[in-house]
Amino acid sequence: MRHLPRKRFGQHFLHDPYVLSRIVSAIAPRPGDVVVEIGPGEGALTRPLLETLSHLTAIEIDRDLAAWLSGEFPAEKLSVIVADALEFDFGTLPVNLRVVGNLPYNVSTPLLFHLEKFASRVQDMHFMLQLEVVDRMAAAHSTPEYGRLSVMLQRRFRVERLFRVPAGAFRPPPKVESAVVRLTPRPAAEIPALDEKVFATVVTRAFGARRKTLRNALSSLIDAGGLTSLGVDPGLRPENVSPACYIKIAIEIARRGALPLDP
Ligand code: SAM
Repeated sequence: MRHLPRKRFGQHFLHDPYVLSRIVSAIAPRPGDVVVEIGPGEGALTRPLLETLSHLTAIEIDRDLAAWLSGEFPAEKLSVIVADALEFDFGTLPVNLRVVGNLPYNVSTPLLFHLEKFASRVQDMHFMLQLEVVDRMAAAHSTPEYGRLSVMLQRRFRVERLFRVPAGAFRPPPKVESAVVRLTPRPAAEIPALDEKVFATVVTRAFGARRKTLRNALSSLIDAGGLTSLGVDPGLRPENVSPACYIKIAIEIARRGALPLDP
């Protein structure tokens, strides 16, 4: 199809057959899988996936591409939903969902935070993203890439960086290198129950002040004694604190009751 890539929708279309075959092998689709693809574009990934899958649901924001895709594949194989994935309620799709996509890089971080909310319904997710974002998602604590995205995602998912993809694999080539990442939800028993709002506030506050010590970054939520009683050194910098410690801190703050949560 002759579609002029639209910058506002982050359109960079994959054309490299080797990269496409590596992505499909990583996903390893099986005929009965319930798969949703975000941003199918011209169907570069949709087509090889549908060689195995009996059906695929695709969410595409660009009406022209969505209309073209609907004409290209029979309705019993492909359901195209014209929607903004950032606002789409993934809870309306069946559980055990497999989410895939070569994501629009301009909305990748908010999209990951949106998808994180549906983790309990998901079997796994495979995404192509900007390499720098994938490195932040997978980063271990005490590394420069570790931050809010690492903590929020790693609480719910095992994050694996699979392989890098050069800019030349896309039309037009993006200015940055890309990578494919797999997110696999942790078993429910491994995810401690907590107040999501408190947890998000703790992590946002901590990394909003990453040069401060934890004691200072979280001073309006918990004092140094409180951190010490949890076995967390209040003199650490936020980037040196593991996701497990942020979970402990959020549980303790919620246990202590109402605290000022708005910045
Ligand atoms: N999957 C195709 C490929 O690999 O060639 C296209 C990838 S392109 C990087 C991103 C796709 O996501 C485009 O088709 C774009 O129109 C679509 N898109 C952008 N923003 C979106 C959004 N908020 N919700 C759903 N689709 C979106």
